[in-house]
Parts: sequence; C-alpha cells; structure tokens
Amino acid sequence: MSSISTDILIIGAGPGGLACAKILAEQGRKVIVLERRQEIGPKVCAGGITREGLLRLVPESLIDQSFCEQHVFSSCQKTVVREQKPILATISRKALGQWMAERAQQAGAEILTGMKVSAIEGLRVVVDNHKVFTCTQLIGADGANSLVRRSLGLPAVHRGTGINFQLPGTYERMEWHLNAQNFGCGYAWIFPHKETVSVGAYSPQSDMSAGRLKRNLLRWAADRGFQLKELPCQAALINYDYRGHCFGPVWLIGDAAGLSSGLTGEGIYPAVISGETVARQILDPRSSNQDLLAMIRRQKQHRQVINLSGQHPSCAFVLMELLLLLLRSKLLPFQALEMAPALQNQ
Ligand SMILES: Cc1cc2nc3c(=O)[nH]c(=O)nc-3n(C[C@H](O)[C@H](O)[C@H](O)COP(=O)(O)OP(=O)(O)OC[C@H]3O[C@@H](n4cnc5c(N)ncnc54)[C@H](O)[C@@H]3O)c2cc1C
Repeated sequence: MSSISTDILIIGAGPGGLACAKILAEQGRKVIVLERRQEIGPKVCAGGITREGLLRLVPESLIDQSFCEQHVFSSCQKTVVREQKPILATISRKALGQWMAERAQQAGAEILTGMKVSAIEGLRVVVDNHKVFTCTQLIGADGANSLVRRSLGLPAVHRGTGINFQLPGTYERMEWHLNAQNFGCGYAWIFPHKETVSVGAYSPQSDMSAGRLKRNLLRWAADRGFQLKELPCQAALINYDYRGHCFGPVWLIGDAAGLSSGLTGEGIYPAVISGETVARQILDPRSSNQDLLAMIRRQKQHRQVINLSGQHPSCAFVLMELLLLLLRSKLLPFQALEMAPALQNQ
C-alpha cells in the first residue's frame, strides 16, 4: 500500500472541513482534505442560512433568496415575524461548497475527491483499502455518520432525521410549520430558492423513523397542494450529540462533533465556526475560542428544549404552541432559534 504523510489531514470537504482547511493553509501548514464524493458541495439540506450566522459571512452573489418575513404556523396559531433586514436566506449547497473549496485551494490546501476513508487507526488513515495517509493532526469533518468520531469510541445517541424534496418552481414565502401531530417537536418547512423550492421536515426524535417522518410529510404536503410522491426524496441524519471537539491530536468539527441545533437542525454555521476555531487552536492553543463556546451554550439551550419534550412525548404539542405564542407576543425573538448568539450579546 502506498503511503502519504502530511501535517494536517481533514476528512470531509463539507463547510466545516473547508473552513478549517483554508485557515490552516493560509498559515503555511501542509493540509490535505479527503472527500469521498467526486463533486464538492451537494448535500441533503434545505439551504437555510441565518442572519447572525452565515448570512454575514458569504458574498451576496451566493444568496438564492433572502426574506425579511418568516411565516410560522402551529396547529392552533400563526404569526409573521417581520424585520427591516433579512432574517433568513437560502443558498445552494453546491455553490457554497465550490466557493469554499476554491478559497481553501487558493490558500494552498490540497483537496482530493473520490477518496472514501474506510479505516482509521490513531493517526493512520486508510482510503478504500489501497492508500494510507499519516498525519500529525487529524480532523474529523465527516458529518453525522463520522468515522473519525467512531474511531474515538464516541457514541452519537442524539441524532435527528431530516428529509428534503427540491421542487422545480417558485414560492413567495418562507414558512415554518410546527405541527406536533406530524413532526413531534420538529417541524416542516417551505424554503424558496432561485428556481426551486425546498419542502421538507425535521424531527429531532430518534423514535421517529425516517419512514414515518416521510409518510407524515407527504400527507401534510399533499394537503397544501405539494405533490412530492414522484420527486426524489433525500434524507440524512443531523447530529446534535456534542461530547467535545478536542481529543489530543484528533479533532471533531461540525456534524461529526454533534454541533448542529437539535431544535432547528441548523448545522452549516456551527460547522464553519467550529472549523475555524479548531484551525486557530491548532495554530495557537492560546487563541480565543469564545465564538465556539458561545455557540455550544446556545446548542445546549436548544437541546434542553428537546429533552423536555423527549421525556414527555405528549408535551410536544404544548411546547410548539408555547413557542409560537412566545414568538407572536415578541417575548421570544426569532433570533433565539439561531445557532449564532446575537453579536451585541457576545
Ligand atoms: C434535510 C436536511 C436539511 C437541512 N437544512 C439545513 C439548513 O437549512 N440550514 C443549516 O444550517 N443546516 C441544515 N442542515 C444541516 C446541515 O446540512 C449540516 O449540519 C451541515 O452540512 C454540516 O456540515 P459538516 O461540514 O459538519 O458536514 P457535511 O456537510 O455533512 O460534510 C461532511 C463531508 O464529509 C464527507 N465524508 C463523509 N464520510 C467520509 C469518508 N468516510 N471519507 C471521506 N469523506 C467523507 C461527505 O461526503 C461530506 O462531503 C440540514 C440537514 C438535513 C439532513
């Protein structure tokens, strides 16, 4: 077996891995990113990005659509959250991935596609049983089913399921449906992109199978005039089981670290922030990790809400109605649902 040695080895060219690679390569570190897919970017995702999160960090040319209004529905209520500036926007994961990959490569990172990691023994990584990579720092940015995480012996118990259908056409509003009967303490969404609309559902509960979630989503969508049955259905896990990100020379970021929101499923921004923070910590262990710590606190709050209804499944209805009531009465700012803590509070 041929063997390649590098300083930093990153598994996964998602937003977390690419953000990390860029910063390390900019500082002259030898970085190799291994990506199992041939194409960088596409990922099962609704492509929603939040105001205090990724919306601040990407160029406007990457935005599909942005929305100053959010339409939120529960079984008994509805409200429209309105602000002067866009609250949320949508983005194509392919466009985001390719923009991030270009920046990482310009900084000097080497991204190797079609490289599926099949085994990890400490800092020795095997690709498809024929190539071996060794490194001084190994970074697991390989998503919700992370092999790097498993190599550390860390379980991932708290994972939700997300299902997405991408419909051709347009839709004018961005909508959230907190329908406890169908989605427990998750929700269904309608997120318009440029020429397509993402319609999907997320459930944080491990007892809600992907099959049941899909059936509920199809029924719910059909009632609203969306015929999804004939369209390709994409499903994936979302990991919110955070148990640390630094394990000596092995690091976890993004979904591999369990840093997505259990409440909303937002995971792109947590992946980017954790990727950037880990890169800075590798370069200088005394560097600030305040952004990441603030986000971990926010993630814990979101998880507490989930735990509350997880312990008493019948509470999901009450919880969703309470959430909507708080949004309606402006006692809860929409921003509290974001993973990025408000800038002014940091
Ligand atoms: C249906 C759905 C909708 C979602 N909607 C949103 C949303 O609107 N907004 C939001 O912020 N988040 C959303 N998310 C969550 C978001 O997609 C993830 O949290 C985010 O992509 C995590 O980024 P990451 O870099 O950690 O991992 P990923 O984006 O999962 O990247 C991991 C990369 O690692 C690669 N990889 C995995 N295993 C290996 C291996 N063995 N060898 C080599 N490469 C490997 C993968 O191919 C992938 O490219 C959604 C998720 C789902 C399922």
